[in-house]
Amino acid sequence: MSEKTYSAREIVLSLFPGTDAVLVPLPEPYRFERTPEGLRLLRDGSELLLLAPIAAAGNASTQVLCDLCQRSAPRHYLQMFRAEVPGSKGRRYRYVSLCRDPGGCEARRSGGDTPVEVLLSRVLGN
Ligand SMILES: [Zn+2]
Repeated sequence: MSEKTYSAREIVLSLFPGTDAVLVPLPEPYRFERTPEGLRLLRDGSELLLLAPIAAAGNASTQVLCDLCQRSAPRHYLQMFRAEVPGSKGRRYRYVSLCRDPGGCEARRSGGDTPVEVLLSRVLGN
């Protein structure tokens, strides 16, 4: 069993809520982690999203767009994932395509955290 860990930001905000914003540590960067269940999106020790891989179907030469770096490539270079819509009790899913090469995908992204935040709002419906 894993214990919840807290980031420096969470500790400062919970113990010293009046701290000047300049002194509060910035949030940790978004982080993707591969697990047996799929791809987890984490920030500040919390899982924001679990993307379950699904098998590719259809014409292998069809170009597919990565939802993070906007690279267009044949299906072979991207992995399709699905995420359950919160509150749908397994009845609704959103589908996401991401590069199989996470390092290359991250290097092609621009706009800092924006691509990940857009993906999150699309999947979670915020
Ligand atoms: Zn990508």
